[in-house]
Amino acid sequence: MIGRIVLASNNAGKLREIGAILAPLGFDLVAQGDIGIPEAEEPFGTFLENALTKARHAARASGLPALADDSGICVRALAGAPGVHSARYAGDPKSDVRNNARLVAALAGVADRRAHYTCVMVLVRHADDPEPLVAEGRWHGEVVDVPRGDGGFGYDPHFLLPALGLTAAQLDAARKNAISHRGIALARLVERLREESDPEAP
Ligand code: IMP
Repeated sequence: MIGRIVLASNNAGKLREIGAILAPLGFDLVAQGDIGIPEAEEPFGTFLENALTKARHAARASGLPALADDSGICVRALAGAPGVHSARYAGDPKSDVRNNARLVAALAGVADRRAHYTCVMVLVRHADDPEPLVAEGRWHGEVVDVPRGDGGFGYDPHFLLPALGLTAAQLDAARKNAISHRGIALARLVERLREESDPEAP
C-alpha cells in the first residue's frame, strides 16, 4: 500500500511532522482541507471511536486511504477527565487559556497530580476497511499549577515531566516529538505499515 494518504486534520504542524516521517516510506500525505473535505464530527466517548470515525469520513470523501488521530489529556484524580473533551474542556470557543484555568481549579487541594496524554492513530485503506491499523501512545507526567515554557500548545505549560524537571512547553519540537504520545503512536503505526509493505513478511 504505497501512495497518497489523506490526513483527517487541517493542523499544519501535524501535516509537516507526520508527512516527514511517512515520506521515506513512499507515502505522500495530503491534508483533507486541501482537497475540500470538511472536518468530521467527534461525538464519541473514546479516542479510538473518534479517530476511526474521522479516518473513515476522510477515506469515504476522498476515495483514498486515510489517517486520523485523536488525543487529549487524562487526569488520574479526575477519573480520566478532560479526556476526549480536552479541546473544549472549558466550553466553546476552544481556548487553551480557559482550559488550563479550569484544570488548575479542578485540582485545587488535590495531592495526586498524575496525568497522561493519550494519542490514538488510525489508518484505513478505504472507507469500509474491516482491518484498520491502530496505534496508541501515552506520555506520563504531572499537572502543575504554575505554567512554565512557551513551546508546544494546549496543556503543555502545565504538564510536568518529573524525570526531566521540565514541562512539555519547555521542550523544543524535535525533543517533544521524540517522546510524546503522538510521537510514540506514530512510530508504532509506521512499524505496522512497514510490516504491511514488506513482501517478505509472513
Ligand atoms: P486533537 O487530537 O488535536 O483534537 O487534540 C485534542 C486536545 O487535546 C487539544 O486541543 C489539546 O487541548 C489536547 N492535547 C492533545 N495533544 C496535546 C499536546 O501534545 N500538548 C498539549 N495539549 C494536547
